[in-house]
Amino acid sequence: NMKAEIIAVGTEMLLGEITDTNSPYLARQLAQLGIDIYYQETVGDNPARITALLDQASRRSDLVVLMGGLGPTADDVTKETVAAFLHVPLVTDPVAQEKLTATAARLQHALTPNNLIQAQLPQGAIPLANRTGLAVGSWNTVNGTVYVTLPGPPQECEPMISEQLIPRLAQATHQAIASTMLRFYGLTESVIAAKLAPVINAQTNPTIAIYYQFPDIAVRITAQAADQAAAEALIAPVAEKIKDLLGDAFYGTGEHGSIAQVVGQALIQRHTTITAAESLTAGAFQAALGTVPGISAVFPGGYVTYAPEQKTAMIGVPAALIQQYGVVSTQTAQAMAEGARQHVGTDYALGFTGVAGPDTLEGQPAGTVFIGLASPTGTTVREFHLLGSRNEVRARAVAWGFKMLQD
Ligand code: ATP
Ligand code: MG
Repeated sequence: NMKAEIIAVGTEMLLGEITDTNSPYLARQLAQLGIDIYYQETVGDNPARITALLDQASRRSDLVVLMGGLGPTADDVTKETVAAFLHVPLVTDPVAQEKLTATAARLQHALTPNNLIQAQLPQGAIPLANRTGLAVGSWNTVNGTVYVTLPGPPQECEPMISEQLIPRLAQATHQAIASTMLRFYGLTESVIAAKLAPVINAQTNPTIAIYYQFPDIAVRITAQAADQAAAEALIAPVAEKIKDLLGDAFYGTGEHGSIAQVVGQALIQRHTTITAAESLTAGAFQAALGTVPGISAVFPGGYVTYAPEQKTAMIGVPAALIQQYGVVSTQTAQAMAEGARQHVGTDYALGFTGVAGPDTLEGQPAGTVFIGLASPTGTTVREFHLLGSRNEVRARAVAWGFKMLQD
């Protein structure tokens, strides 16, 4: 078995100012691969002490992972210390440099020489791309020992571990990895976490991780096995169990959020036509429909009816009804959906009305939303109390519209 040693670099950790969360995250993942973790150390941003640890690690470990200190400031010394220990210079990774240059151009500030340090790595190392930040990681095999450097911030370190380091180690240890992302809409992260806790805790292979990717909650299942087919076979039953536990909230699988795609494609496949009358979302639902290739086959057009008079003029919502119940009401959402359906002659129609915020409307708080769904068999209206800023409320309302169509 491969013997691993984890070194967290950072004076803040020695002083107790921050807690090392990267080491346990990495340790759990290494353990799953069957890699033995024999040592974990914390060391300050000090070249001499880091070198002393490297010297010791090189003699007793097959894998040495250093985390932290890849940044551009003077106290970030990890990579130059590793390079000096391995007797190689630092060189620039062109891909990371290009990303730095592009980011600086976008933010319109000049690139300073110390920024460029973030694109450097010990000569001979394989770069580990930083999807969520700028400092490049590295993987370097020297005399049979693998030296890895990772950035300190967990939001950069964790994706680099799960997306780059683990797959590389799986390959090195002749294991295959399979993974799938289940996508949910309409439950909060804490509800999902609570419902899945028993499965997550009982489960070491596959592993299950919950990600919040607005407005979705995504659940990643990752399995390891001797070959790809075996890894994939491990995933399927766990995916079914999770879908069972979370019931209706499941809407599809995939790396990127796509409730519009999933529902839009289903409409096209079933030749079910759709329209909408939108108040608070002001066309956002229809714009989302427009992102689905081929949607014109089932989406003839629709309405943005912001002012009450336009709800009446465009789709025949009775002025008296709006007067009686208010714009933000079950009745108005129902009349909007039915009016749109009647005017365009589609199978289904949605009516969106509500308070996007930040101010209240008709005495109703921001986030109060009514969505009507008119169908061949009648109309249903759901009332929501959505969280977030004005545009988050609007985005959530759009996603709920799709979810209602799917259910
Ligand atoms: P940066 O480019 O942000 O400077 P870096 O790779 O140089 O990143 P550090 O400077 O060591 O990393 O740490 C940056 C921040 O990341 C720390 O202030 C801390 O908030 C967090 N961090 C670093 N190491 C860890 C760790 N092991 N566990 C949790 N958080 C960490
Ligand atoms: Mg730093």
